[in-house]
Amino acid sequence: MTFVIMSPCVGVKDGRCVDVCPVDCIHEGETMYYIDPEECIACALCETVCPVDAIRHIDEVPEEEKSYIKINEEFFSHS
Ligand code: SF4
Ligand code: SF4
Repeated sequence: MTFVIMSPCVGVKDGRCVDVCPVDCIHEGETMYYIDPEECIACALCETVCPVDAIRHIDEVPEEEKSYIKINEEFFSHS
């Protein structure tokens, strides 16, 4: 189980989620940050600090943001 970064992060990218992640599984991409689903321990710390509410547990991602589940996964399968 994992947390997912969704569209509100695009263009914001302040990176404060990275500072709180205990397992360093949040990585910076060109337009947004991404969570490595293999490494995330689902502690929810990142969700509490995101100023634009861009992070959700995978089970709580709203319908219109579901494409970001794959977008996060794919960032790591290509790197
Ligand atoms: S839920 Fe915890 S482990 Fe997963 S990305 Fe957020 S801070 Fe890192
Ligand atoms: S805290 Fe939110 S806006 Fe900032 S990088 Fe993380 S997900 Fe993106």
